[in-house]
Amino acid sequence: LRSTELARCDLEDSNKRIICTFNIIFVCAEVSPYSKTGGLADVCGALPIALASRGHRVMVVSPRYMNGVTDAKFAGAFDMQCRIKIGCFEAEHEVAYFHEFRAGVDWVFVDHPSYHRPGNPYGDTRGAFGDNQFRFTLLCHAACEAPLVLPLGGYTYGEKCIFVANDWHAGLVPILLAAKYRRFGVYKDARCILAIHNLAHQGVEPATTFSKLGIPGDWYGALEWVFPTWARAHALDKGEAVNHLKGAIVTADRIVTVSQGYAWEITTLEGGWGLDGLLRSRMAVINGITNGVDMDEWNPVTDKHIASQYSLDDLAGKAECKAALQKELGLAVRPDVPLVGFIGRLDYQKGPDIIQSAVPEFMQDDVQMVMLGSGDPSIQSWMKWAEATYNDKFRGWVGFSVPVAHRITAGCDILLMPSRFEPCGLNQLYAMRYGTVPVVHCTGGLRDTVQDFNPFANAGEGAGTGWTFSPLTKEAMLAALWTAIQTFREHKTSWEGIMHRGMEQDFSWDRAALQYEQIFHWSSIDPP
Ligand code: ADP
Repeated sequence: LRSTELARCDLEDSNKRIICTFNIIFVCAEVSPYSKTGGLADVCGALPIALASRGHRVMVVSPRYMNGVTDAKFAGAFDMQCRIKIGCFEAEHEVAYFHEFRAGVDWVFVDHPSYHRPGNPYGDTRGAFGDNQFRFTLLCHAACEAPLVLPLGGYTYGEKCIFVANDWHAGLVPILLAAKYRRFGVYKDARCILAIHNLAHQGVEPATTFSKLGIPGDWYGALEWVFPTWARAHALDKGEAVNHLKGAIVTADRIVTVSQGYAWEITTLEGGWGLDGLLRSRMAVINGITNGVDMDEWNPVTDKHIASQYSLDDLAGKAECKAALQKELGLAVRPDVPLVGFIGRLDYQKGPDIIQSAVPEFMQDDVQMVMLGSGDPSIQSWMKWAEATYNDKFRGWVGFSVPVAHRITAGCDILLMPSRFEPCGLNQLYAMRYGTVPVVHCTGGLRDTVQDFNPFANAGEGAGTGWTFSPLTKEAMLAALWTAIQTFREHKTSWEGIMHRGMEQDFSWDRAALQYEQIFHWSSIDPP
């Protein structure tokens, strides 16, 4: 969307009342606070609440993961005593629905033994689960049935609804609507929006699995995917596969990405992951909406995880958070030394290897650094090595901990994000809200949300909320970091200006919810 004003005038009358409400069904593999590995969970945990508070009826359907560690998070969801049988993968699989009504939203959890195992939603320490295609096919079937069979608050959502299918895990939803239901007149007025949070994961599986998906055979073409020659295993390999995300791209009514920059990037050869041609052909229905921030969870004024709460008007608490973090990490408690943080998956996407290559040079300076993340075992062991080698300056925290993420976000001066690509990125938004200055690779959502510091703008008052660098090299990253650090050390007024401007920005979900409404409206007036 180019402008929120556009959304406003189409959907609200002159008295600013909402003039149409929708029945909305989010389908997702993870949702905060119940299950989370990344930003997808944050979005699916917050956007539905913002939409519900604007008057829409909203349901979120995701699996009921019982992994033995986070089971208590589902304790408020009760068995609806509704069982259905889903025909796929050569059998009838019985699933149950659990439900919790919270913050105006129906949180619906699909229960099946394949969601009951140790690990995160997608895998464990040995890697991805081998039956993920089955697990998420089941989710899609169950989600399509939910509005028809679940008497939530006494009555079902019914057929006239808008599905928001998030990433490849929910990719079969628009195909099922078109192939399984609409041919019998069911869901003929329903629409489906595909929300792409990360195009790098597409759900590509052998072509032979198509017959197991519970989709009429004449729809094979929607999911059909042929690998380029170079990606094939051997000469006889014809490269035939099914691609769940591709199927959703061709059958969804509209497509949304999590930032405007990413909406454009996915249509380019470099950012399209093989789907750029297809996405270009659907350009007319693709929009970018920048994610918001959960203002309750990420709020320095009320944050329970941090040592001292603070606000834009009184930043004393931020200094206390920094001191507390330095103490917790066993680093020298010094307000004058710049403390740089990194939070994220240790994955090629997030560029931890760029940090790895820069650390020996960076550690020559009087700086401190903390990295929180888990993933690539070689980066994890390097973090431990760096901690031992630069013991007075570097800390590597291997693991996934929401409270620690909050303490790093509040306690650091600078948050570093050298992501190779970033559909939106949430950590830079959280950082700005906490007065922590982002230094980021100039890509996707990072480019959209971080404005470069310019000391000369506004008659010398300055403008900008951080630093972006390009290309993604050790040298460019260090140059940006050193400029930031020099500003931190020598230009206190400029630094405070950057912090203030970051903290003042509106990253609320209300803005994004308004834009999603516009997309729902457009999809509902388009023919299916
Ligand atoms: P992505 O979804 O690609 O992983 P995002 O920036 O969109 O990246 O969202 C990442 C979310 O996951 C943020 O809320 C971030 O704080 C959180 N996160 C990532 N790694 C960790 C970790 N090791 N511990 C705690 N939270 C983490």
